[in-house]
Amino acid sequence: MEKIEIEIFADEIITPLDFNHKKRNYLIIGILFVPANNKNVLLKKLINQRCLFSKNKTWFWEHDDCPFKQECKKEWHDLNNTEIHHEDIRKARASKSLIDISKRWLKFLISNNKDELKLVNFNILYIDLDVLSIENFGTEKEHENIYNKFFRTAIDYGIKTFFIDYNQVVVKKVFHDDGSMRHHSYFPYLNLHKLADKMGEKIKIEDINIKFLDSNHKTYLGTHEAFYNESQLIQFIDLILGTSTQNILYLSNDKIKKEVAMIIRPLISRMLKNPKNKNSSYHYYNKQKISIFPKHPIKKTEIYNETLNGDFSKEYLKDQYHTDKELEMPDKNQELLATFFSS
Ligand SMILES: [Zn+2]
Repeated sequence: MEKIEIEIFADEIITPLDFNHKKRNYLIIGILFVPANNKNVLLKKLINQRCLFSKNKTWFWEHDDCPFKQECKKEWHDLNNTEIHHEDIRKARASKSLIDISKRWLKFLISNNKDELKLVNFNILYIDLDVLSIENFGTEKEHENIYNKFFRTAIDYGIKTFFIDYNQVVVKKVFHDDGSMRHHSYFPYLNLHKLADKMGEKIKIEDINIKFLDSNHKTYLGTHEAFYNESQLIQFIDLILGTSTQNILYLSNDKIKKEVAMIIRPLISRMLKNPKNKNSSYHYYNKQKISIFPKHPIKKTEIYNETLNGDFSKEYLKDQYHTDKELEMPDKNQELLATFFSS
């Protein structure tokens, strides 16, 4: 196949977080790859899930535009026009709208996979900072280098794996959640430039400036319609990243967080147990990937050697990505799954 244009939506979680007397020391990068010609379809499907009024299948941001506005209420539109943010899914805090729409987005993800649609492509990379022994990497500057390096790696891997059938991949724009990264200067201007240089002829990055987006779309109300939509995709990867991590690292024992995370669990457990299964009914192969890095402690030189002694250390590092991890969140909510799959 000829050429494909894509956009990239990125989010991150940085622990340490203490839970169950265990300290988690991970940097977690989540990247959503959206082909430009699928973007509107994906957006429409996500946005329509916001309408919780049973007779309606289409979401309108304004109550005035709603075809059922006599029966439907302005108040419902205001509630359902909520930011989908995994951190806020907590028993004490989350609105019914947030919980219901989050569940619907994840069910949409699962049913899309089951239907063999290639609408949702993502790569999630867990960097285990304890195994990496990041303290061996010295200064703050070096930490930044490591973060930047793995951000590029996560993008590079996704493009080369998910879009392998295309002769050319054009990355039109990279969006990142405004939340944390911009203030840590982890993404200097040079980051995407460096990636573009490394990728060669087949892959082009059209705009090497990362656009930091507020994940709350309401910030852009009436000012920037495109960002209003693009924030939805930042919210979507935030939800996928958050619920995957809830299953894998069990960072919270909140009842609602567990309940929502259970929806994505069958996909996550299969991706870890059998990452190369082309025949899974969940159809994640070559479109969704989770990996953990590194498998064994590594030395500083082994990471940086890549540029000096390319092939050897690349091959070596490749073996360091693994999926050998049991889900830490306990599996006691099986009945919820049963309800979901029978519906
Ligand atoms: Zn309505």
